[in-house]
Amino acid sequence: MKKYFLLFIAICFIGLSANAQDVVFNQKTLKYHHPSCQWAKKCTKNCIVVDKKKAKARGGVPCKVCGGG
Ligand SMILES: [Zn+2]
Repeated sequence: MKKYFLLFIAICFIGLSANAQDVVFNQKTLKYHHPSCQWAKKCTKNCIVVDKKKAKARGGVPCKVCGGG
């Protein structure tokens, strides 16, 4: 029984980490996009995928088209 409980906890943690929102952050323009944004797809050179909080911490501003996800 304890085994299943631990498994349940593990699944919850995986679920939480999946909810941490990833954005596509342009290190040059400092704009961040939702991964499905058309501009995120076009941005291949200066963009990195980071947590939204990290993008903001680095001075990121949300994209006007997608709102930053
Ligand atoms: Zn965008």
